[in-house]
Amino acid sequence: MRSTKHEETPEAQIEMLLSSLAVGALWEPSGNGLTYMKVGEREVELMVQQQNSQAAQSRIHLGILMAKTGWQVKEDNVQIVEAENLSPPQHYMKEQMRRQEIAQSTWKCQTPECGCLLSAFALDKAEWVFLGQDKVDDEEDQEHEVEIWAVNVVCPVCDTTIAMEPLEYALIAGDDLMMSYRTPAAQLEALDRPTIIKVMDSDSREIIITGSFCPFSGALLPPHVRGAVVSFKELESEEE
Ligand SMILES: [Zn+2]
Repeated sequence: MRSTKHEETPEAQIEMLLSSLAVGALWEPSGNGLTYMKVGEREVELMVQQQNSQAAQSRIHLGILMAKTGWQVKEDNVQIVEAENLSPPQHYMKEQMRRQEIAQSTWKCQTPECGCLLSAFALDKAEWVFLGQDKVDDEEDQEHEVEIWAVNVVCPVCDTTIAMEPLEYALIAGDDLMMSYRTPAAQLEALDRPTIIKVMDSDSREIIITGSFCPFSGALLPPHVRGAVVSFKELESEEE
């Protein structure tokens, strides 16, 4: 028999999970109706709890487990939300909105005295940077190559550049910003279906389907921009 992660104690699992999170990251143990945020080196805060007995029980259970493992749990400002009878897609949308609200109202510039909220940064000027390839194992222990990207955003107060994880950027920036992308030579806007139909019915038809590279500049596109139907605007080259 192979030894797997599942044989570890709950304490060891919690420790591994929480210590691997960055400060500011959200943790939502699946199916528990709880949203935690890591707020310090050994401290998490319960942000949201669903109003049902399962969430209440999980809250107690996890609280004991985390205390045993040496994690402080702040619980003095918990938002209690009603558990609604939603379809899975509605539920997902709602959860996503809640995560976005938390991120937008709490994630801050990393300069200690600055404290400017990330949501106040010029997120539309973000720069996507390809950092290289990495190898990860999936659940069947198969090795896969993955691309590592960072999204650089600049603090409007202290000018510090912060490198965000793409998923964190997507959460705080929202769908609209994720639909547009600027390469050195063109502005690309991903189109939804009704717009694609409208454009194809018109005479202009100025749309392309993206591959891995920008056809105007040759720049590598981040994964979320690939395989999309986009409208484009070529940018004036910035020569003298
Ligand atoms: Zn700052």
